Amino acid sequence: MEIKNVKGVGPKLLNCLSKLNINTSLDLINFYPFRYEVLERSLNLVHDEKVVIDGIVDNYATVVFLKNRKDRMKFIINSGSNLINVCIFNRGYLKTRLIPNTKVIVIGKYDKKHNLIIASDIRFGLLPDSPLIEPIYHTVSGITSKKICDLVNKVIDEKFNIIDYVPDEFSEKYKFLNKYDSIKQVHNPSNLNVLKKSLDRLKYEEFFLFMIKMKYLKNNSNTLGIEKNIDITKVKEFINSLKFKLTTDQLNAIKDIYNDFSSNNQMNRLLQGDVGSGKSIVSFVALYMNYLSGYQGCLMAPTEILIEQHYNELKSLFKDIRICLLTGSLKTKERKDILEKIKNNDYDIILGTHALFSNDVEYSNLGLVITDEQHRFGVKQRSNLKNKGLTPDILYMSATPIPRTYALTIYGDMDVSNIKVMPNGRKEIITEVIEEDNIKEVLKKMYGELKNGHQIYIVSPLIEESENSNLKDIELLSKNMEKAFGSIYKIGSLHGKMKPDKKNEIMAKFNEGKIDILVSTTVIEVGVNVPNATMIVIFDANLFGLSALHQLRGRVGRGQFQSYCILVSKTKTKRLDILEKTNDGFKISEEDFKLRGSGDLFGVRQSGGMSFKLADIKKDFNILVKARDDSEYFLNSSLKDKYPHILDVVIKEHLD
Ligand code: ADP
Ligand code: MG
Repeated sequence: MEIKNVKGVGPKLLNCLSKLNINTSLDLINFYPFRYEVLERSLNLVHDEKVVIDGIVDNYATVVFLKNRKDRMKFIINSGSNLINVCIFNRGYLKTRLIPNTKVIVIGKYDKKHNLIIASDIRFGLLPDSPLIEPIYHTVSGITSKKICDLVNKVIDEKFNIIDYVPDEFSEKYKFLNKYDSIKQVHNPSNLNVLKKSLDRLKYEEFFLFMIKMKYLKNNSNTLGIEKNIDITKVKEFINSLKFKLTTDQLNAIKDIYNDFSSNNQMNRLLQGDVGSGKSIVSFVALYMNYLSGYQGCLMAPTEILIEQHYNELKSLFKDIRICLLTGSLKTKERKDILEKIKNNDYDIILGTHALFSNDVEYSNLGLVITDEQHRFGVKQRSNLKNKGLTPDILYMSATPIPRTYALTIYGDMDVSNIKVMPNGRKEIITEVIEEDNIKEVLKKMYGELKNGHQIYIVSPLIEESENSNLKDIELLSKNMEKAFGSIYKIGSLHGKMKPDKKNEIMAKFNEGKIDILVSTTVIEVGVNVPNATMIVIFDANLFGLSALHQLRGRVGRGQFQSYCILVSKTKTKRLDILEKTNDGFKISEEDFKLRGSGDLFGVRQSGGMSFKLADIKKDFNILVKARDDSEYFLNSSLKDKYPHILDVVIKEHLD
């Protein structure tokens, strides 16, 4: 039934409901509460704590009107064993109903001295013997959770066509209620036990479908790609000519990529490794192998600084390969020339920011696409390429490790190569949290590094000092550094609002050692590599997320020198403590994950990979594991033929 035909839904309510994407009664019952309020009679009244009591009104309520149309109402409740004063604000309109012997429930905080409950809510009626469970819904202005609850109850007994995606075999195994009853319970719980079972049932279904989708994608994503012929001796020669010996993990990753290249399936691989683990060189070898097989390859990075750095490195590694740089800051004429040459196959390797995939870029024979520092990848990019008729091999690189336990849900349709060991000879970065008042200590440590000929990053979270906060702004910081060190050392500053040319110029100077202290916003967060920089000082560290801090810290410790990370913060916090104790990106992401929840798991949720209405991959991990195993069984057994509607919906959703 359309929601506008539900009794009592007028234009105003209709408008609110449509803002919540509720257009039919089915939408309405699929609009689940986001939490519950459990009301249970308090056995004792404890001073300053939340209490819930019921009883009868003992006297006529009185109301005092206050300023700004506010009011305060008082009455006395008889709970059977006690008389207690109740005071509540802005409910004066209830006065006429609060007459002696009316049954009421009072929720609030108890003040022992005055034998008074300062109520946050009052309800009419008495509490049931078992706890009263109230669903709380998300709302928009103009509609209350209570109203949604009323509406749900009006329509809940309609004949709905609810499709159940859990095979009976599994439903029986877990003794689930059927789907419709579960939905009813979620809106109208009879008790906490049944509510939990019902929620589990619905979460399970979400996970089950999701896992089937991921597995299906993986099994059917073997798009025909390019089968490449690679002269392996040349690859070995190149690897042997490097200044350093590749680690086993790096070599294994290269082997994985080589095998993908040699097969006729399209590669769809994620290269995962902590900051500084040496992913870039792996991607360079991949570009080289792809070049040897006669195809164009491109490498995309999120910032101009980073791509410029890759460009310089590639140029010096491969003198005979034609490499170009395509960024947003090219002049129209330059850009046109480059585009023409890409189209004519006059370039072998093309580097750039996301400009690489603008509509006007035409490749001649694209064989490989690599994206660096892409923790916000989605399936999108691949399908975009496919739409253009291209099926190059694809390699993603990410330094934001996702905790192993959760990886399966997110990487379901990708192959993964991991770089776990750091290159030889690396020293652990020493991290220290220093309180803001102790700035002298920080300067002393900085001086120590500068004296040894090393360079330093200074990071501040914002570009401008905003009025109501005292964040260190870049200019102020630069000035202070100038005061402290300017007579001997050179200071440069970098921020996101600068023109790309200027940014590159400063970065180049820092790279060449012409700048000793680089004061910067987080634009340096990803990928930048200056091995002589041995200290990073991060101001207002408490304002950054753990993973971001870990990324920033990864700017140092990139050579053989002992490096330091100093986190300057108003106070020492538990979070910063974690960074002091560990350099392990996996551990840190796990902690970050715990602290922030999975809601915004590195943007994955927004990428369309998953959207669960009820389930939470962190909190409901046990259910997830069951759903994962069951989905596997489902796909490998006759169950998938017995319940064809399950695969149908997965495929349909995937195509949408
Ligand atoms: P990330 O994985 O964070 O992108 P990079 O690829 O930038 O790390 O590598 C960090 C530094 O380590 C670079 O200076 C790189 O030259 C160096 N490096 C990479 N592999 C090795 C290795 N096997 N041995 C020694 N140094 C290496
Ligand atoms: Mg990198």
